[in-house]
Amino acid sequence: MRIAILSRNPRLYSTRRLIEAGEVRGHEVQVFDVLRCYMNIAAGKPEIHYKGKAIGPFDAVIPRIGASVTFHGTAVLRQFEMMGVYPVNESVAVTRSRDKLRSLQLLSRKGIGMPVSGFAHSPDDTDDLLELCGGAPVVIKLLEGTQGIGVVLAETRKAAESVIEAFRGLDAQILVQEFIAEAGGSDVRCLVVGDRVVAAMKRQGKEGEFRSNLHRGGTAKLTKLSKEERETAVRAAKVMGLNVAGVDILRSDRGPLVMEVNSSPGLEGIEAATGKDVAGMIVEFAERHARPGRTYTRRTR
Ligand code: ADP
Repeated sequence: MRIAILSRNPRLYSTRRLIEAGEVRGHEVQVFDVLRCYMNIAAGKPEIHYKGKAIGPFDAVIPRIGASVTFHGTAVLRQFEMMGVYPVNESVAVTRSRDKLRSLQLLSRKGIGMPVSGFAHSPDDTDDLLELCGGAPVVIKLLEGTQGIGVVLAETRKAAESVIEAFRGLDAQILVQEFIAEAGGSDVRCLVVGDRVVAAMKRQGKEGEFRSNLHRGGTAKLTKLSKEERETAVRAAKVMGLNVAGVDILRSDRGPLVMEVNSSPGLEGIEAATGKDVAGMIVEFAERHARPGRTYTRRTR
């Protein structure tokens, strides 16, 4: 097969592993920096140009689109789809997953467990918003944050009010969430490929930290999932329309609660923690499913 990888940097671990996994299986793999791709939108013959030349044909495209380049990245991915190239994750699913609120709304509609969440822009009734989430302690999240930045634990009502007011002053979109204390500063990252969880790791925040992000000094190790956790992760990916996803779950007293579904999950932490060849499984998934013109890849219901 001829495989295109959309990534800003071919030296990143995840990109390198996908190139390697493709080449080991005898495929021709090329990496494109989405910001350097430009396209024509004329009727009939969609093209993508890169460094002065038209690219293609390709059998499959593997998007690794960073949050900061979502707009242009999904436009380029959509252009691959217009050219009939099979996307491992479809552009519309990537866009869907990038909007935290939209994701939670879609997941809740399908009855997938999640922390009780409230969403607001400039709430004029902080009390009621807090009440909606069961009162303090609550976790307050800036919607555009990543890697745990802008995620605050407010242990008392007073603290919660101050944080909400401060964020309101910044004109920011916020998510107020029930704090799942029993997760004990840990969460579980489930790597879904197709209809299976192919690897899972438990991330534990450092002492005294409720956020488990590896970027914030958390550590990761292999964990065994319950049947309910597996099913929840696979369903969450399906609801988002993603074939490849990193589903983050909190282990709560009332079962697994989905926090986030990531469409370009990093491979380094999970491959190191589990010893699994996740990149290989992603390429094999593309081998099994890619067909010319098959660009609508996953039903979400
Ligand atoms: P980001 O997307 O920036 O990583 P998250 O929403 O994943 O932000 O939150 C970062 C971390 O904070 C999570 O990995 C988890 O460990 C912790 N966390 C987030 N929300 C909650 C919650 N409602 N209850 C308990 N812990 C939480």
